[in-house]
Amino acid sequence: MFPRCRDCAQRGGFLCSGFGFPARLSRAEALPCAHELSGSVAAPPGIMKKETMAKTKSAASQGSAGETHPVTIGVLALQGDYEAHARAFAHAGARTVLVRKPEELKGLDGLVLPGGESTTMLKFLEKQGFFETLGEFVAATPCFATCAGCILVAREVLHPRQRSLGLLDATVERNAYGRQIDSTILTLPTDLPGGPLEMVFIRAPRITRVGPGVRVLAQRDGFPVLVRQEDLLVATFHPEMTSDTRVQQLFLDIVRNHRNGSLRHD
Ligand code: GLN
Repeated sequence: MFPRCRDCAQRGGFLCSGFGFPARLSRAEALPCAHELSGSVAAPPGIMKKETMAKTKSAASQGSAGETHPVTIGVLALQGDYEAHARAFAHAGARTVLVRKPEELKGLDGLVLPGGESTTMLKFLEKQGFFETLGEFVAATPCFATCAGCILVAREVLHPRQRSLGLLDATVERNAYGRQIDSTILTLPTDLPGGPLEMVFIRAPRITRVGPGVRVLAQRDGFPVLVRQEDLLVATFHPEMTSDTRVQQLFLDIVRNHRNGSLRHD
């Protein structure tokens, strides 16, 4: 059972379009309710709005990983737990930008499609041609999609059928493990270095088929939960909700390799 959302007192926060938070996170780290879809969300520490980012570009040209030019990760911020992703990537040494409009994709080294409610995200994306622009962007740029993001990028979505970007060669079943109350935290083996990984599943989808170009990095009950297809990394759980940043580090490696022009099949 997830504790109550910091601000709106609903459990598991999805009802308020944000999330609850695992008990191990302190109240200060916990996610606020994301009622504020209008763009009034104050960027938490470590997350810069684009304008601020441009102004501080030279001052901030040294990332925490000692890079001369730290990578810039955009987080789609239409709905869902985008703030937790931005915080996790800022913590992992990246510059982060919240993306709410198609033109804000410009100049990003990588993009996160967060968890949330894929149907709601689709509604927002279907405005201003964002859906099409996003599809083109993700086809050409490293992308990390979690949960609802996984549903958005899948080639086929079932339960029920739903429009998607069709970029990940996989079939995904929505809400396959049951309702919000059936959400769970498991520690499972992965192909990542460093041993088993804690995984937070919240009304998670299930990947029931993957194509030959998709590498499975972790499974739950024989179904893939962390997969990679070239520069597209996809999780059905929420790495941004634990303090383990190995999945973020893997994505940052993918982004750096892409930026350095290395082969897409590395
Ligand atoms: N159940 C949500 C959907 O179908 C996804 C849940 C999540 O992102 N944690 O969009």
